[in-house]
Amino acid sequence: MAATTVTAATVATTPAPDGDDYVIQMRQVCTRFGDKIVHDGLDLDIRRGEILAIVGGSGSGKSTLLREMILLHTPDSGSVTVLGSELAGISDADAAALRQRCGVMFQKGGLFGTLTVSENIGLPLREHSDLDEASINEIAAWKLSLSGLKPEAASLYPAELSGGMLKRAALARALALDPELLFLDEPTAGLDPAGAGGIDALVRHLHALYQPTIVMITHDLDLLWQVTHRVAVLGEGKVLAVASMEELSHMQHPVIRDYFDGARG
Ligand code: ADP
Ligand code: MG
Repeated sequence: MAATTVTAATVATTPAPDGDDYVIQMRQVCTRFGDKIVHDGLDLDIRRGEILAIVGGSGSGKSTLLREMILLHTPDSGSVTVLGSELAGISDADAAALRQRCGVMFQKGGLFGTLTVSENIGLPLREHSDLDEASINEIAAWKLSLSGLKPEAASLYPAELSGGMLKRAALARALALDPELLFLDEPTAGLDPAGAGGIDALVRHLHALYQPTIVMITHDLDLLWQVTHRVAVLGEGKVLAVASMEELSHMQHPVIRDYFDGARG
C-alpha cells in the first residue's frame, strides 16, 4: 500500500463549483428550544463538491444546523433535503442508506474508547459491507495514512492519542465508507498551531482526491481563507450571507462585520 505524502503539489485548491446541483437544501427552517428561537426561517443551499464553512457567534445555531443535516435533530418546521431525500418523515431504511453516504467527524471525536483506532475505523465497514477482516484492516490502514497518522496508531486506544491524533482518527473513521458528504465540526478547535496547520492541507488533499462535498463548522481563519469555497454566516436565526471570504470581507451587514472584526482580533 502506497503511503500518501501531502505536499504543496497535492493540495492545490479545487475550483469552486457553481450552478444549481445542490446536495443539501434547507427551506424556511424553524427550530426552537423552549423560549429560545435558534432558527427563524433559515434557508441554505449547498452545492455538490463545494467546501462550505458555517460560521457565527457562540449559540447562533451552527451545531444544531449540522445536526439537522445528519438526522440527529428534526426542526419544528421547514424542509431539509439531503442528497435528494426530504428528511421529514424519511423511512428508517432510507435514513440508514443516507447515513452511509455521509461521514461525520464530531467535535469531540466520538470514537469508542474500548476499541482500538483500527477497530473504530473498521466499524462502519463491518456494519455496512460484506468485506472480510483482511480487507477491512487494509482499508482502515489506508484511511489512517490518508488522515496523516502513522501505522503504529492503528493498535492504540483513543485515550492513548493526543488531541491532534484523535481528530485525525475521527476523520479516518468518517472517511471509512468514502462519503459523498463529509461533515466536520470544529476540525482544528483545541489543537496547537502546528497540529491545526496540518489539517488545512489534509482537507484540501482529501477534497482533491475524492471531491466530496465538505460542510464544516470552524472559526479557524486559515481554514476559512485557505480551504473553503464559500462561507455561510449565521445570525438572527438565519443565514445572513453565503459568499467567499473575499466577498464577505467587503460586506457591510453589522452582524457580519461584528463577526469578522471580532474573529480577526
Ligand atoms: P452554536 O453551535 O452556534 O454555538 P448551538 O446550535 O449549539 O449553537 O446552540 C444554539 C442555541 O440552542 C444555544 O442557545 C443552545 O443553548 C441551544 N440548544 C442547543 N441544543 C439544545 C438542546 N438540545 N436543548 C436545549 N437548548 C439547546
Ligand atoms: Mg457548536
